[in-house]
Amino acid sequence: MICSGTIIADADTVIDDGSVVVEGSRIEAVGPRSEIVDRYPSHEEREYDLLLPGLVGGHIHSVQSLGRGIADDHELLDWLFEYILPMEASLSAEEMETAAKLGYLEMIESGTTTCIDHLSVNHADRAFEAAGEIGIRGVLGKVMMDRRSPDGLLEDTDEALAESERLIQAYHGSFDDRIRYAVTPRFAVSCSERCLRGARDLADAYDGVRIHTHASENRSEIETVEEDTGMRNIHWLDEVGLTGEDVVLAHCVWTDESEREVLAETGTHVTHCPSSNMKLASGIAPVTDYLERGINVALGNDGPPCNNTLDPFTEMRQGSLLQKVDRLNPVSAPAPELFEMATINGARAAGFDRLGAIREGWRADIVGVSTEPTRATPLHDPLSHLVYGAHGDDVVFSMVDGNVLVEDGEVTVVDAEAIREEARAIALSLEDHREAAEKVRP
Ligand SMILES: [Zn+2]
Repeated sequence: MICSGTIIADADTVIDDGSVVVEGSRIEAVGPRSEIVDRYPSHEEREYDLLLPGLVGGHIHSVQSLGRGIADDHELLDWLFEYILPMEASLSAEEMETAAKLGYLEMIESGTTTCIDHLSVNHADRAFEAAGEIGIRGVLGKVMMDRRSPDGLLEDTDEALAESERLIQAYHGSFDDRIRYAVTPRFAVSCSERCLRGARDLADAYDGVRIHTHASENRSEIETVEEDTGMRNIHWLDEVGLTGEDVVLAHCVWTDESEREVLAETGTHVTHCPSSNMKLASGIAPVTDYLERGINVALGNDGPPCNNTLDPFTEMRQGSLLQKVDRLNPVSAPAPELFEMATINGARAAGFDRLGAIREGWRADIVGVSTEPTRATPLHDPLSHLVYGAHGDDVVFSMVDGNVLVEDGEVTVVDAEAIREEARAIALSLEDHREAAEKVRP
């Protein structure tokens, strides 16, 4: 297949009237249309306005999708312990599958083709299967919580680690290696030292398995960790082995100078979630400072209950504006920087090589965006438009590993309306779930 249009191959490379040749799961060639098309006369050609690398959601909770709108305007730990954890605890295996599918559906519809996905404690199999069926690329992990957790989520440490290992063996490298595993402790507040050290041991035991957790999102959280351990959160995570080039830490809003040095020295990846940080008033992550130190920063939507969408374009815009206002400097966080966070930096965090740009020999994860909306008129600078003006709704085409998942703005791989219908039906019972769940607060 050949996809033609204006190609934003990476943050520095725009090819007007370009073509990408896709063969199997790889990009065979990319360049000016006049030089490409004639070389591949038997390939079907499709035309789009803008073509860009599939975007990477560096921290997502697909299975929280059913909770969109149930917990707006709350403080983080209230939000988590009063609403989100009880909802997660109450979902049946079938409901968890629907929740995951709803999340993956929204992602592929709006331009995210790879996600680093923080699942829940229970029924993780269903999310792995859903991701495989829908065809998204992902690094998924069952959440581990072995203390300070509500009934229904609280686990025995050995069971949490054993279940994680079972899932690694079942799913790491599955679905043509589109699906990989990240050992996923929820956060230091809800995990014992043995659980956190066990996460490191598991990641070391299996090639390519990553570690994904939340860190230093909120001041109450870091105070709790400091009371528990006597250490700042990042120092604690470093102490138990949860820093390094295979570790993705979501948020990192509240870090001091010495913690930032640890992140930089260890090559730990950070995922910035600006909409979530704003909505939960968690604070402003020092993203520009991280990037200046050489820390790899990806971009993520976090979960639908704290965002409330999984639109990656909105996230790029928010990420840029938030740094500008934080530093009172309109030059901060320019569009190319945010585009890199949402593409190549995200790919690095996820651990997939040859991903995050449109280049010869790289993985064929490509998104097509329409510039028909008035919002896209006129179009002086395609990259500026993608970061500051585009919406997920503008996505008309989505491909992962050469497989078309969205065409003409419609999902081709599953019955999207049937999934939405199931989700609406389950949502009706969520309030009953919440009232029935025991509430536990740190
Ligand atoms: Zn999160």
